[in-house]
Amino acid sequence: MLSIPKYEFWFVSGSQHLYGEETLKEVAENSKKIVAGLNEKGNLPYKIVFKEVLTTADEITKFMKEANYNDNVAGVITWMHTFSPAKNWIRGTQLLQKPLLHFATQYLDYIPYDTMDFDYMNLNQSAHGDREYGYINARLQKHNKVIYGHWQDSEVQRQIADWEDVAVAYDESFKTKICRFGDNMRSVAVTEGDKIQAQIQLGWTVDYYGIGDLVAEMNKVKESEIDDQYVDLESKYIMVQGNQSKEEFQATVRYQLKQYIAMKKFLERGGYTAFTSNFEDLHGMEQLQGLSAQLLMRDGYGFAGEGDWKTAGLLRIFKIMTHNTKTAFMEDYTLDLRPGHEAILGSHMLEVDPSIASEKPRVEVHPLDIGGKADPARLVFSGDEGDAIDVTLADFRDNFKLVTYPVDAHKAEKDTPNLPVAKQMWTPKPGLKNGATKWIEAGGGHHTVMSFAATEEQVRDLATLYGVELCDIN
Ligand code: MN
Repeated sequence: MLSIPKYEFWFVSGSQHLYGEETLKEVAENSKKIVAGLNEKGNLPYKIVFKEVLTTADEITKFMKEANYNDNVAGVITWMHTFSPAKNWIRGTQLLQKPLLHFATQYLDYIPYDTMDFDYMNLNQSAHGDREYGYINARLQKHNKVIYGHWQDSEVQRQIADWEDVAVAYDESFKTKICRFGDNMRSVAVTEGDKIQAQIQLGWTVDYYGIGDLVAEMNKVKESEIDDQYVDLESKYIMVQGNQSKEEFQATVRYQLKQYIAMKKFLERGGYTAFTSNFEDLHGMEQLQGLSAQLLMRDGYGFAGEGDWKTAGLLRIFKIMTHNTKTAFMEDYTLDLRPGHEAILGSHMLEVDPSIASEKPRVEVHPLDIGGKADPARLVFSGDEGDAIDVTLADFRDNFKLVTYPVDAHKAEKDTPNLPVAKQMWTPKPGLKNGATKWIEAGGGHHTVMSFAATEEQVRDLATLYGVELCDIN
């Protein structure tokens, strides 16, 4: 299953010595209360740890170095309760190599007209303290996240939670290893890219293995291991034997389970968390990876077909960001262009992630009119309804580009009895004609990540952290 280390975020408050020890103590006390409140009631995926009140350039620099050095720290959150002269932040901010959230908040969410005095004004200066501090981040082109609003506000808390998930995905991005079983589909352009630049900018290691290495691993799988997986499969999904004999059906499904077990072992041994397959590259294999790829996506692995390592890596990052919730490899397949019906039917020949299923998936065996191999087993289901986003990563040599739009996901108007694959319908929120035109103009590819759990704001934040170009069609 998807496993994410126990990350935490370090919280510091900025101040200075002008106000005296009593005020600094209050700054620390209020900061602790905010952090405790966020941890208890903020629905945050990762814990925030209050570290200290920082008042000098040396303290700030030392703190940032420590945040860099600690592997369990996924990012730093700063708040200026009082005024903290921002020249003090220059060196430390330059050194910080982790995501930075400037939380522009105030201890109280109101103005205490009846009781406020000069002590209150000394302590509660975030309205201008956060601007002094924000200036230096902008001047340093830190491209940090700014969240503004009261710390008890549910929308603010949701923003912090979403940003934490992006920051963790970013940190995990630099540990992401993508295994390519075979090369890219011949002659295809958009699935290609600069693997060295991907490692520099996105942190991804992208390695090739000949399909023979996987076949050798498959030959080592024991029948008893397949038996166990078959029982597990029957307990989770509906087995549909169809026109096949019982023996044929079981043998076909078992072959996919053998692929699943072998790929999982291979990936685990190499530390890979994403992979690709290619129907042109199956020498020594009887079936294209269908059900087997779907089960690995269910488990949290990134995947894309036709050797598309960019989408495989992107899916893994989004699965980390969404805790493997309703986030899938997708491909635009066929269109309804009639006025009032405008929609895209998305699918793949086989490999659609069951995390977006709106019903219990069915295990079925059918021919695949491509690749010239045996009929593969696959999970068949309809996708879900609701707000989602679609996003793709393209390589433009001088930079990568994330292309995205929000979509309205929905059910198909009718069943497709002759198309036994998993499918998802959606309409881009900017309209099919407008949205798809802009997508094509931007050079966005046909392989995408569709997520019901990630937000456009998260895609923007991720693009900022990576330093990639963003085309947000909305
Ligand atoms: Mn494809």
